[in-house]
Amino acid sequence: MKIIDGKLLANSLNQELRKKILFFKDKYGKTPYLVVILVGNNQASEVYVNNKKKKAIEIGIKSKVIRLSDKITEDNLLKTIDSCNSDNSIDSILVQLPLPNHINSNKVIDRISIEKDVDGFNSKNIGLLAMGRPKVVPCTPLGCYKMLESILNLESKNVLILGRSNIVGKPLSYLLTNKNATVTLAHSKTNNLKSLSLRSDIIIAAIGKANFLKKDWVKKNAVIIDVGINVVVNEKGLRKIVGDVDYKDVYKKVSFISPVPGGVGPMTIHCLLSNTLSLAQKRKTS
Ligand code: NDP
Repeated sequence: MKIIDGKLLANSLNQELRKKILFFKDKYGKTPYLVVILVGNNQASEVYVNNKKKKAIEIGIKSKVIRLSDKITEDNLLKTIDSCNSDNSIDSILVQLPLPNHINSNKVIDRISIEKDVDGFNSKNIGLLAMGRPKVVPCTPLGCYKMLESILNLESKNVLILGRSNIVGKPLSYLLTNKNATVTLAHSKTNNLKSLSLRSDIIIAAIGKANFLKKDWVKKNAVIIDVGINVVVNEKGLRKIVGDVDYKDVYKKVSFISPVPGGVGPMTIHCLLSNTLSLAQKRKTS
């Protein structure tokens, strides 16, 4: 068994990215600029946003977090997005999800200009990805793809994706299909999940259920990517982050596995930053 070390891979890709950013700055006299909009005080979102900002600055990307009250009206949030869309210095905009219940997330995401939609969640960007003509690929799916690409050729592999969310499972299924994998997209209503799982060369778990995937669901030498982030309390009463895969149970049976933490998480941030540079480049050349 080998570990797909997302942290190591992200570090090495970030070094290359740093050079590309320097080159961009030299060529255009401009620093790529990422704006993150955070609504409310969700603790997990706060951690994710701070990590993104810290990494952006480390790598040479300018970054600002716009913090808004959870009482903000949908209309005022849309106005904030409009002003970021029309601010020529801003290259990429991310609205941290989830949003408070009184706000329609789809409307908000669709308001981000597709030229600045760094998460690629805008319905036009998702549509283009589904059609095999991507402009921006969502960061977590792109991170999973880059991890797989670093160890194997996806062509004609049977891939099972557990979870069909709009932010992970569905865009990942389009991306891997575009790369000639044969993809099964499973969800909570899927029948015979275990038999689907047992015939898969690659399993990507993104369901948000701690330690869900066990070794008797996995064929020998399969490749496993674990997207899940779940907080559990261990035997000592301490909070701990685990994935959707029961790592200890599964790891001896598989050929490659990504850990949690230190797997998909750092790759997601890397892709956010590389998408920011791509958007900045496209805005300069279009
Ligand atoms: P969602 O809750 O939006 O979607 C979960 C999906 O899993 C749904 O499609 C659901 O099916 C499916 N599902 C739930 N239970 C089962 C089951 N028993 N069998 C099969 N399918 C099931 O989750 P997200 O996609 O937002 O996130 C998934 C996980 O990934 C979470 O742990 C999240 O924290 C993590 N995550 C990690 C990121 C990273 O950077 N590492 C980034 C984004 C997410 P149905 O549609 O039928 O309800």
